[in-house]
Amino acid sequence: MLHGPGDAGVVDVEPPAAGPGEAVVDVARVGVCGTDLELFSGELQYLRDGRSRYPVRPGHEWSGRVAAVGAGVDPGWVGRRVTGDTMLGCRACRRCRGGRQHLCEDRREVGILGHAGALAEQLAVPARSLHALPDAVDDALGALVEPGGNALRAARAAGAAAGTRVLVAGPGTIGLLAAMFARRAGAEVHVLGRDAQTLEFAASLGFDRCWTAESLPRLPYDAVVDASTAESLPARAVELVEPGGRVVLIGLAGTPSLLDTRVLALKDATAVGVLSASPGLADTITAYAEGAVDPRPLIAATIGLDEVADTLSGNRPKGAGRGPKVHVVPG
Ligand SMILES: [Zn+2]
Ligand SMILES: [Zn+2]
Repeated sequence: MLHGPGDAGVVDVEPPAAGPGEAVVDVARVGVCGTDLELFSGELQYLRDGRSRYPVRPGHEWSGRVAAVGAGVDPGWVGRRVTGDTMLGCRACRRCRGGRQHLCEDRREVGILGHAGALAEQLAVPARSLHALPDAVDDALGALVEPGGNALRAARAAGAAAGTRVLVAGPGTIGLLAAMFARRAGAEVHVLGRDAQTLEFAASLGFDRCWTAESLPRLPYDAVVDASTAESLPARAVELVEPGGRVVLIGLAGTPSLLDTRVLALKDATAVGVLSASPGLADTITAYAEGAVDPRPLIAATIGLDEVADTLSGNRPKGAGRGPKVHVVPG
């Protein structure tokens, strides 16, 4: 539980009961991500604008097995391995009815906004938010479906395909996953990063076109994906993209990123924002199950609940590998 900025600890709570329409899941794995670090530090925009409030139980990248279901839920879910959509729309408004429940004004977000997250032995979620996991998607992959869904959407928004050249800026979890999905789609993928260590790690994943701002070759980039947290990158992406190309904005800086829209217009370029994995979850599960994309090398360490607070404060777990992702086994 997060009690306030910088204040986190493991507490005993009542086991959740499956209310009407809900499923209770035995949590197998949970990924820790940048959003969780910002929830811990208090920097998250939702905390700043009062939409989200402490105490918060984080955890929105998870896998597990359904232990119980409430009234109105198909009992066939019990025993199935699952992950779930972070975004819980109201189901009634225009956006929800139009298939954009992840953009619902009144949505809750599991582990972030108004709904307790997965960093617990058990989690209750609406059964309609569940996605079944096939055997080929193990618990680790299952907890990587949520970031994967974001990344898959970014690669699609970039128009990644054979014969295209895609530059991904920011080789964190989302950036590397987007690079993997773009590569899978047939694109020539370039990775732009800041330090040698993260670029070396990207290279170890088979990306042999890894650059810093200084070494980046001047090539026609059909798309630039900004998965960084650098305030200057969106404007740089618009500068770098080939006329007629696509700029995908999925990273968020702590301060407003300004860009000159004249450059976009004069380049006849398309800029796309991506929020949430929701529309990409099912295809991500399929891609993982087929082995088309395997992000497990991104996991640097697997820890227990007791070590989460230390990880959220920015410390790397003991013996952690080079990848950007830390996983938690709560049981
Ligand atoms: Zn996340
Ligand atoms: Zn709604």
